[in-house]
Amino acid sequence: MARVKMKKVLVVEDDPDLLEILTRQLDMMGFSVITAKHGKEGVEKAFEEKPHLILMDIMMPEMSGRDATRMIRANPDTEDIPILVVSALFLGSDIRSCFEAGCNDYIVKPFAFKQLQQKIQGLAQRGPSSSS
Ligand SMILES: [Mg+2]
Repeated sequence: MARVKMKKVLVVEDDPDLLEILTRQLDMMGFSVITAKHGKEGVEKAFEEKPHLILMDIMMPEMSGRDATRMIRANPDTEDIPILVVSALFLGSDIRSCFEAGCNDYIVKPFAFKQLQQKIQGLAQRGPSSSS
């Protein structure tokens, strides 16, 4: 019997190799995956698709993940969507600025699949806080 796709995830990542890896890993976890290759496209897709979860890179052309996160948080339609930052930035100040922009959790690249799974499961179970 085919697995039922319960949840829609948006992955915003400018590195095509990592985007493909993340897409495969999320697919293995049973998610339906939408992708965007920079922050601007990520904001557009978030508004259009209203995913259950967003994985957000930070260093991207067009618009950074920080600015994209701020715009997603500023829209009442998308303000509650959990956002997991997936970034190579590891300094405390970088991580703090992402939380200040509105992300819910943070994972530093490179990461193990199991680590990613745990972060995602934590956020996916929680889901949007006030959906009716
Ligand atoms: Mg990047």
